[in-house]
Amino acid sequence: MDRHAFHLLGKPTGAACNLDCSYCFFLSKEQLYPGSRFRMDDTVLEAWVRQLLDAQPDGEVHLAWQGGEPTLMGLPHFARAVALAETWRRPGQRVRYTVQTNATRIDDDWAGFFRDHDVLVGVSLDGPRALHDRHRLTKGGTGSFDQVLAGWACLQRHGVQTNILCTVHADNAGQPLPIYRFFRDELGARHLQFIPVVERVTEEQADRADARWGTARPLYTQAGDRAAPRSVDGPAWGRFLVAVFDAWLRRDIGTVFVQAFDVALAAKFGRHELCIHAPACGDALALEHNGDLYSCDHYVEPGYRLGNILQAPLADLVAGPTQRAFGRAKQESLPQYCRQCDVLDLCQGGCPKDRFATTPDGEPGLNHLCEGYRAFFRHLDPWLEFMAAELRAGRPPSAAMREVARREAALSAAVARAGRNEPCPCGSGRKTKHCHGAN
Ligand code: SF4
Ligand code: SF4
Repeated sequence: MDRHAFHLLGKPTGAACNLDCSYCFFLSKEQLYPGSRFRMDDTVLEAWVRQLLDAQPDGEVHLAWQGGEPTLMGLPHFARAVALAETWRRPGQRVRYTVQTNATRIDDDWAGFFRDHDVLVGVSLDGPRALHDRHRLTKGGTGSFDQVLAGWACLQRHGVQTNILCTVHADNAGQPLPIYRFFRDELGARHLQFIPVVERVTEEQADRADARWGTARPLYTQAGDRAAPRSVDGPAWGRFLVAVFDAWLRRDIGTVFVQAFDVALAAKFGRHELCIHAPACGDALALEHNGDLYSCDHYVEPGYRLGNILQAPLADLVAGPTQRAFGRAKQESLPQYCRQCDVLDLCQGGCPKDRFATTPDGEPGLNHLCEGYRAFFRHLDPWLEFMAAELRAGRPPSAAMREVARREAALSAAVARAGRNEPCPCGSGRKTKHCHGAN
């Protein structure tokens, strides 16, 4: 059997969630299944686990839960999934369990289970209290920060492997360093993911989206060429990533792991570890609670339903022509502007769901975040080259921390020697007194 690796996010509660985050694109997906209880039954669970293991090659296989809020399924669902996976995996397979949760329901039982089964737990948290509580609300409309922090503390007490997933939106994008330091210094987090909120809407929906939809949030689909005001824009996204990178570069290489930086460094070695910045996609699918398979978690909508795994084998649906065409479209639809871009090898045009802007010469299909990606990757590239050279020489990339300190000391010495009205030694073109010599 010809097997190829792919990622599958299982959504055992579909869109059901105990929170009501105002930027969530997934809550409205419950409209796809009117009358459903949104709980995966054992028949679907067994098909999911068995077919996933059958379809994947030997080596590491990821059994991944996402929501909605997957812990609403209760612990027995997770215990059964793990038992099935351990029974059905082939000798050459190792199953790696991951779950993305808002952490509000985590208690000692959950944390103990996660620890015992080496589950990697992603916790959704948008920064310190005021930033987190801006959008991540309970059903009653209050902030969820205290509940999330209680869940996080419980996971830490039990020694569970954790990762923070922070969405970056219009209201926290201007606070990169307080967010980064909060995660690193106050929470002791060592693995971080930053995800841009891009809430896409049509012209007709724009007013209602601005008003947070009221009570009738329509089914979210990847349509329209506008971004709701909660979205981060390209320049803000770029500034956010650059600021976090600069902080990380100075002292945290090898001790804090930021997905965006790891992925960019891997690309220097020809490895594309994240679909968003890979040339093609199509190998990151989503499985709904009833067995319906969709092309991607961001395309759980009628036009991207591939079939149901109770009626057609998962492997066939993943390898089938519809899904392969979905994956190729990411590259085939790249505008000329991207094809000529100096950071194309790192960016690859970003995710197709965000490609609703227009290039300067009027071609559609440019990423809404382009300006930010371009600034970020240009800023990163020399340091990626430096770190890649260290790795090729068999040394750790942490030498970049010493190099940045050396360059900063040299610049400070040059600035001290320069006249205040002379060009700044940093090469900005501004006078020293208006640049690094400013008091
Ligand atoms: S559509 Fe975007 S998120 Fe989905 S698989 Fe492709 S690149 Fe990844
Ligand atoms: S930075 Fe912009 S132009 Fe360059 S590949 Fe990315 S989206 Fe395209």
